[in-house]
Amino acid sequence: MRRFIPALALLLGATAVQAADPAPVTLRVGKLLDGRGGSIENALVTIQGARIVSIEPIGPGGTATPTWDLRPFTLLPGGIDTHVHLTWHFDEAGRLADEEKEPPARTVLYAVENGLATLKSGITTVQSLGAPLDAEVRDAIARGTVPGPRVLTALAPLEDAKRTPEELRADVRERKAQGADVIKIFASESIRLGGGPTFSQAQLDAACGEAKTLGLRTAVHAHGIESARRAAAAGCTSVEHGVLLDAATLAFLAGHGTYFDPNTDLIFRNYLENKAKFLGIGSYTEEGFDMMRRAGPLVLNVFQMALQTPGLKVVFGTDALAGSHGRNFEELVYRVEKGGQAPMAAVVSATSLAAESLGLGDRIGTLAAGHEADLIAVAGDPSQDIRALLRVVWVMQGGRVVVDETRR
Ligand SMILES: [Zn+2]
Repeated sequence: MRRFIPALALLLGATAVQAADPAPVTLRVGKLLDGRGGSIENALVTIQGARIVSIEPIGPGGTATPTWDLRPFTLLPGGIDTHVHLTWHFDEAGRLADEEKEPPARTVLYAVENGLATLKSGITTVQSLGAPLDAEVRDAIARGTVPGPRVLTALAPLEDAKRTPEELRADVRERKAQGADVIKIFASESIRLGGGPTFSQAQLDAACGEAKTLGLRTAVHAHGIESARRAAAAGCTSVEHGVLLDAATLAFLAGHGTYFDPNTDLIFRNYLENKAKFLGIGSYTEEGFDMMRRAGPLVLNVFQMALQTPGLKVVFGTDALAGSHGRNFEELVYRVEKGGQAPMAAVVSATSLAAESLGLGDRIGTLAAGHEADLIAVAGDPSQDIRALLRVVWVMQGGRVVVDETRR
């Protein structure tokens, strides 16, 4: 990035602007994608404070002098990644850091760094699934003290399959009290261990049922048919991964309105590219790496079946962790180029559909009057060439421009 506008400047700017009625900011665009599958050519987008207030057609010549002339680029809502792990990072020795052993302050600063890389790459909202320290990062970004994507977090996941349904209900209430935005549940093993089911139907009914009662969503790690079916039957919000699913199970998810986030590429490619940094830690054994190598083609096939499943809501999520923060859009490129998804559908999956899956569909993910001004400009048109998303030149978050390399 040629230019990154420092947090302090943003903060001072925001304070000055908020003191009075904020002056409108106008964007002159040659083309915009609205995040819902529509596009508009030659328009003037007006932003007041953090919100989009109008989108008006304008002649190709135009007369208005905009605050930002973005005509060489395509404007669209910022990306929304529904599955990341903000705190994961490599340590000074180049190995996966052990967050249990390092000072929490260091973990938080790495998470801030990861958030910054993510924001600069055009992702303006992430759901981190998750770690307790995410809350500090989320709250600092929300205060405007450090730049980063809007963060939703699960805090610590529920993963102990020995907990009774009643204990799991209590765990969910505890997460709610701790400030979780979503509950993350491990209902199957890691794919490195085979991906078999761990939570019973009764356990998932309890956890997802209690969450729903409290107004919380649930994101369920489930690789196999049994665990994914149990999650959908329990009314959980989303199934993550799904490497071992079949067409009938995908139809079952669609029938229950369960969102599906297949992490198809970036997770496995990143692990294989950085194998030496993980190998020998926990389930990152040679055998575990073999399982991940085999999972790639499997999940690609599942993704392609998912696209053919009527009514299934396939959302964008990467499982971004150490090594892949800021590379999030590479997952979308793969889904289009290898998975055969239409580029516009891929854009929708990472904007309005992702927002809907997070319960934020009326606030973010759509470029329309009344929505928050979380916007990106890219060189090229991602509805024709998905790789344009790898060329983010400008990022606006909540009405503030945080990345600008439009004049390069
Ligand atoms: Zn994950």
